[in-house]
Order: sequence, then C-alpha cells, then structure tokens
Amino acid sequence: MRLTIRDPTLSPIAEKVSRNERLTRDDALALFGSPDLLTIGRLADVANRRSNGDRVFFAANQHLNPTNVCVLRNTCVFCSFARMPREAGAYTRSLDDVFAEADAARDNPTREFHIVGGLHPKLRLSYYLDMFRGLKQRHPGVQIKALTAVEVAHLARLERMSVSGDEWLAVHREAHALGIPSNCTMLYGHVETLEDRVDHLLALRALQDETQGFLTYIPLAYHPDHNELGEALGRTGTATSGFDDLKNIAVGRLVLDNVPHVKTHWPMVTPFISQVALTFGCDDLEGTVVFERVYHEAGAGTPMWLSYDQIIALIRGAGKEPVERDSLYQTVRTFEDWAPGHASVRPEGPEGPTFAIAHRPRAQARGSRRLPVLSGVVDSAE
Ligand code: SF4
Repeated sequence: MRLTIRDPTLSPIAEKVSRNERLTRDDALALFGSPDLLTIGRLADVANRRSNGDRVFFAANQHLNPTNVCVLRNTCVFCSFARMPREAGAYTRSLDDVFAEADAARDNPTREFHIVGGLHPKLRLSYYLDMFRGLKQRHPGVQIKALTAVEVAHLARLERMSVSGDEWLAVHREAHALGIPSNCTMLYGHVETLEDRVDHLLALRALQDETQGFLTYIPLAYHPDHNELGEALGRTGTATSGFDDLKNIAVGRLVLDNVPHVKTHWPMVTPFISQVALTFGCDDLEGTVVFERVYHEAGAGTPMWLSYDQIIALIRGAGKEPVERDSLYQTVRTFEDWAPGHASVRPEGPEGPTFAIAHRPRAQARGSRRLPVLSGVVDSAE
C-alpha cells in the first residue's frame, strides 16, 4: 500500500528525502508550515532509520544542579529555575551536598552525571574542578557531562579568559576543536517565528559542517509557569502541543542531516509523546534523570524520574530496540533477553535526598516591567 501525501507542497521534499539530498531553508519552512504531520513524521522516520535502524539509545543518567543562583535571572525571562543570590529559594550546594545527592547513584545503574546550573557570580572554576574530581573519585564508572556553553562562557569571564564573537558558537567550536563533543538544542514554543526556528537549525547545521562535533540535537519545549514570559503572555498552566512537539522532532531530524542523533526529552513533553516521537525521527530518549528541577520549576507535570526498566519498556512498547549507551554513544548494554515484568534493577528507584520545589512568586509581585522580547508580539496579539 502506498500512503498518500496529503499536503502537495511536501512532495518535492519527499523526493529529496528519498534521494538523501540536503533540504533548503524553503524546504524547512514548508515543513514547519505544513499541517501534514504524519507525512513529515514518516519522512523523518526514513531519514532516521537510514543511520540508526530500529535502535533507540538511552543513558542511565542522573541530573545534578549545584546552584540555581544566576546573574541572568532577570534577563532570561523564559527561565523559572534561576534566583538572584538573596531571593527566596536561592540555593548553592556545598561540594559535600553535591556528593551526597550523587550518592543516589548507588541505587541506580547510573553511568552519567548531567551537571547544569545557574551562572553564579562567585563560584569559580576551582569549585567545578573539585566537584568533577570528587565525583570521579567516588563514582569512577560514571561519566561527567557538564556545563552548558553559557556556563562555560561565564566561567571564562570570571577567570578573565576571553571568549570571542558569538559566545555560544565560540564555546562549542572551541570544544569541538579540542576533541570534546557536545549537544545542540533549540527552545521552541515561546515567541519565536517559524523563520527563527529554521534559521536556528541552519546555524547549527553550518557549525556542524565545520566541526562535526555535535552528537545530538535536542528540541526543548518551552514551559510557561513561574516565569515572566509565560505570565506576560498569559500562558500560565499551558504547554506546547503534542503536534508541535512531534513536528519539532521530525523537522530537526530532516534539516540536521549531519547530526547523528535526535533526542526526545520526556520530562518536558511527557513519556507518552516521547514514545510516539520514536517513530517521528528520534533515536534517543532522555534517561532515568533521578532529580529534575529545571522543568519542574517551570510547571512540567511529568514524573521526576523514570526507572531503568520503565525506559526499556517504553522503547520496547514502540516496537524499537533499546540500547543503553554511555555519554559518547558507546553501547553499554542491549536487551535481547529482557522480559517484561522482570525488573533488571531496583524497581522502586533511587534513594536520596528528596526535595520540594518552592516555586518563584508571580513576577508581577516583584514589580511588573515591559519585556523587550515582547515588543510587537503582545501588541499585535492585543
Ligand atoms: S539558569 Fe540558564 S536559562 Fe536560567 S537565567 Fe540562568 S542562564 Fe538563563
């Protein structure tokens, strides 16, 4: 049976995908603008299967967020995680506290610490180096995936090292030149236009052509709770749609033809959408996570963690082959003899410090201000 393409504007793009030909800016705009989600998903599935077959990777990971104090707290209006140093809910963990939280890894088959936090005005490079060394000493089998490009640029400024040009691209370019791979992302579903999305993807593709250093592309769904942007847009309590979540996965797979992996982040889009995304061009599922703060601060209603076995069941349930990977996509384990209902690790999950999230108060309680990012957006909506 030959399935029909409902949106005829996608036919030339389908031809290009079947010839494994690079898509243009206009093609990417047509994909984002098309309502024919199933065709887009099918094309992305073809592109994904070409290099990844039925394999879906995941890492048994644990997120660590050493501080939520961030000098950009009043600049990144989409962020619900950051606090000013003296703001209610601000925290900065001592190294002993970080090590205590990491000890949850003992109950979990953790192989990766994913470390990300705010841009603290006083924490210097030595704090992070001592943390990485301490974690390595205590958990020698666990890889460290640490710091975003903006954190690296901030630390470079504190240490009076220079980062030139566009900082984000410069940090990734430098890392790739040093042989350090990284991941690229795109936050979507806020005030961006479809053109903004396409230009962002094309900038990532151009850098990847130059360095081949990106391992994975991860679209990040904007969550509007407890941040100034969501409040100003009147979107508190809402979320991106499943349609848009799946489209961002699929278009990312089709446009970023030079990035090996596309990952779905279940804490943001729900495990259900992530499972469907596995047939929309996605070959990587966010792992066990253990303690997720950043998106739960912003209103994510998803679980805080998934067990190792839940991840395997979720991938198997989509008719795919789970592959546990390390941070560099080396295979750790496959699951040919895995049987449903037979937990391979402690099923009740990790033990460790529990935490309650004290959300930020409404931004208006701090004094409302007009957000420059909304000029034109709110006016035209009014
Ligand atoms: S934590 Fe990251 S996203 Fe949030 S304010 Fe700081 S730099 Fe911006």
